[in-house]
Amino acid sequence: MPLLLSEADLARVLDMRSLIPAMRDALRRFSAGEVVQPVRPTLVIEPAGGYYSTMPAHLRDERGGALGMKSVTFFPGNAGGAHPTHLATVLLLDPAHGGLLAILDGRLVTEMRTAAVTAVSVDLLARKEARHLAILGSGVQARSHLRALALVRDLASVSVWSRTAAHAERLVREMAGAVGCPLRTAPTVREAMRGADVVVAVTSARESIVDAAWLEPGMHLCAVGSSAPDMRELDAESVARCRVFVDSRASAAAEAGDLIMASHEGRIGPDHVIAELGEVAAGAPGRRSAEEITLFKSLGLAVEDVVTARLAFERARELMIGTDVEL
Ligand code: NDP
Repeated sequence: MPLLLSEADLARVLDMRSLIPAMRDALRRFSAGEVVQPVRPTLVIEPAGGYYSTMPAHLRDERGGALGMKSVTFFPGNAGGAHPTHLATVLLLDPAHGGLLAILDGRLVTEMRTAAVTAVSVDLLARKEARHLAILGSGVQARSHLRALALVRDLASVSVWSRTAAHAERLVREMAGAVGCPLRTAPTVREAMRGADVVVAVTSARESIVDAAWLEPGMHLCAVGSSAPDMRELDAESVARCRVFVDSRASAAAEAGDLIMASHEGRIGPDHVIAELGEVAAGAPGRRSAEEITLFKSLGLAVEDVVTARLAFERARELMIGTDVEL
């Protein structure tokens, strides 16, 4: 019988400390060609102005592989209402015969795996001595990124900017004490970025919020928010000035508004993406000097969800967590 894992079950079996190396391995295998997955199809859902994507993946590895699919909606208009902006369900299947192993809440999977992947980028691409973090945005991903990044760098300070100042203040209040360093709000993006070693953009912005004039030598930028060709968080000049890494070249070509718009505006050429993060995890060159500015453009890959689901399923079986259901 398949196992049903609720959000509460997943909160008991998933932890960021294990997820970060699991994502690093998944990305490495993805870039090595050990994963079969299409670029996700996305439907625009009107009149609500939402998006619906299906994300199947098959990973082949020595542990018997992982197979499954995430069904995910992003309804930006849900912000502040009864429903979260992102909702998802993951189906985990047995790669030996295709049978259903588990049905998992996908909201928490998305929340955690996205931040774990960004943490991999920080670990691989930020300067080793990076201490000052700027977070642009104050939603679900801002919170999970704070938790994840504190595990890969010894943070000395965090500055948080959000479009709605009260939301940044709430995040700072809620997370004070959670990351072991002082958190403060910043009145502008520019102020948040001043002196930051790592800048994480986790907003639903459609227009750029980062201006190239605010970049500083040695920064590592993580652009996580936009995942549609008509959405961006960075201006074209910022993208042009960075050494750019992506989770998937194919996804970036189809979905990364930050890069697509910079290309349409003539600021970057077809070879501007240096490598996938998984290639860097396998030893390809990442940052080459303490001065250069690196950018990781995250879009989110199905294999991240499927590997996270397998980890959760295995732990849940071990700990006898979840509910067996008959379909
Ligand atoms: P939330 O809805 O929880 O938070 C959204 C954040 O975006 C809020 O801080 C909000 O600011 C800010 N925001 C909304 N509109 C704008 C705007 N026009 N300009 C500037 N800021 C804005 O979402 P999540 O934290 O779950 O997700 C954040 C982003 O990350 C989304 O765009 C989402 O699609 C993306 N994402 C990417 C993933 C990946 O794998 N790369 C995976 C999951 C999400 P405020 O509340 O202060 O107004």
